[in-house]
Amino acid sequence: MTGMLSALLLRLSEAGAPALLWGRQAAPHFGRAFDRLLARGILIEHAPATEWELCPTCECGLEARPIRKIDGRHIAACPLDRGGDIVLDDDDLRSFRIEPAALVREIAAVSGFGAAPSEVAPGVWHLGMSATRTVFLAISEAALAQPGLIATLRMVERSAPITVIAPTPPASERTRFAEAEILHVDVGACIGEDFVLDHARLEPPHAFAPRLVIGRAARSVMLDGVPKLLSEQAFKLLVLLAEQALKSPAIVENRVIESHLWGSSIHRITSEPREPVRALRDALVGNSADSRAVRSLVENRRNPNGYRLVLTPEEIELKP
Ligand SMILES: [Zn+2]
Repeated sequence: MTGMLSALLLRLSEAGAPALLWGRQAAPHFGRAFDRLLARGILIEHAPATEWELCPTCECGLEARPIRKIDGRHIAACPLDRGGDIVLDDDDLRSFRIEPAALVREIAAVSGFGAAPSEVAPGVWHLGMSATRTVFLAISEAALAQPGLIATLRMVERSAPITVIAPTPPASERTRFAEAEILHVDVGACIGEDFVLDHARLEPPHAFAPRLVIGRAARSVMLDGVPKLLSEQAFKLLVLLAEQALKSPAIVENRVIESHLWGSSIHRITSEPREPVRALRDALVGNSADSRAVRSLVENRRNPNGYRLVLTPEEIELKP
């Protein structure tokens, strides 16, 4: 049950402060572990609620309806319609504020970080070193999205590689962190029961070397360790597909390929990506043993019509 409680508190914290835990959500978790969170100031109990939200479509004109005690029961009474009355129990009236700083202190303490975490930007804490990386933690989505955060992290840690634990941001944000060589790890993926961090998750996956390595400046392409010779157009197309495959969805529509290769203003009768795609497949095959498998790396897609590079982001390295 406590594992679920830590996940619940972290999820509620993603929307930013103040994060509230209502008594009804909390009730299944009441017990020693819950009391410990209260004692450590991670949860702070509010005074029992005296008002309740209106009925969903109420036209009573109130901001909130008062909670009355009638015959020993708490009733959130609708002034217009008794059918809208809600009967509440004692737990319903309870609520707890989640204290982000205390929560982060707890995560650091139970996860073996010696020093207390320091807040380096609003809502972003420096936890310390894991095996090989300096670790930062942001428990709200807004904290990770704040402008200038990457520069701030780099000022705190100038040399060692960086891992940021945070709620998973949109794909565009993830790309910005990847380009800055900062590893993002989702909060839920690495913080488990009783707020203990799984340190193994803070290291980048080294299971395999990237299959496709593209050097933009050098115009070099390496596939499965074999250098490939590409025409200027095929190279341009491959970079476009690779950039998109690093985001999601990986598919690049025909019209995007057309305007990328020929510009949007040029109307060409032959402006179909089919030819350039065939040339790219030919070039990638080069002297590969399994030409069929290599050709299928550039996959035809329908609805929308386009093409997709069949490689995961981890299998692609796009160098400047
Ligand atoms: Zn009402």
